[in-house]
Amino acid sequence: MHDARTIADNVERVERQILAACHKAGRNPNEVKLMAVSKTHPVEGLSAAYAAGLRLFGENRVQEFQLKSPQLRAHGLEVAGLAGDEARAVRVHLIGHLQTNKASKAAGIFTGIDTLDSFRLAKRLHEAACTLERQLPVLVEVKLSAEGTKTGLEPESPEFAELLEQLPDLRHLEMRGLMTVAPLDENQEVARACFRQLRELRDRLSTQHPRLNFHELSMGMSGDYEIAIEEGSTMVRVGTAIFGARPKPA
Ligand SMILES: *Cc1c(COP(=O)(O)O)cnc(C)c1O
Repeated sequence: MHDARTIADNVERVERQILAACHKAGRNPNEVKLMAVSKTHPVEGLSAAYAAGLRLFGENRVQEFQLKSPQLRAHGLEVAGLAGDEARAVRVHLIGHLQTNKASKAAGIFTGIDTLDSFRLAKRLHEAACTLERQLPVLVEVKLSAEGTKTGLEPESPEFAELLEQLPDLRHLEMRGLMTVAPLDENQEVARACFRQLRELRDRLSTQHPRLNFHELSMGMSGDYEIAIEEGSTMVRVGTAIFGARPKPA
């Protein structure tokens, strides 16, 4: 399953489909990044994806990546954004929910955090980044539908407004944009509506908060990344279509 040939073929196919989706939507392919979601897969999989040209990875658990990051180093790969030789660097972002008590650990092992969902967490990450003397890129996770995942901030909530108010003063956090997970639904128009909502929210917020950067729109997964690209995604998070099915939890 983690055969390097298969992964290389999958990467090539996904990249071709991204190009086609960009073409269809009249978008510049340079504006869409492919994040390989390597959660649950061994570092041999990451290494094969690296060999196929990928440099951006997504992991969803602090503990899992704590175990994997020394193994990455054993494969000759460094995690970008942390101290060290960055010649063979990969960017690894956290895309799963982060508990406040794991914030400082996360700030020490990931290139960036794509699931910022409270001011409390932002403060903890900022303190940790400050101690580590680094800049930490973040995306704010937005929850757009009741059926979607439980994580993320609702765009009309006071917590969301508070976070955006405070972010410019947290100098060690680099706000880069928004992230969302669309609800699982047979009907792809449900995902499309969700992606469109995130883009419209971004457009609105960028005028309301000129000190913050909302460039990045992380949306779209294996089942719906082409639609996400049509709706403005700048970063698609693709796991299954690259690495194959994830083992079911026991
Ligand atoms: C697992 C996961 C993905 C990738 O899902 P696939 O359907 O395997 O492509 C993307 N985003 C998040 C937040 C995930 O947890």
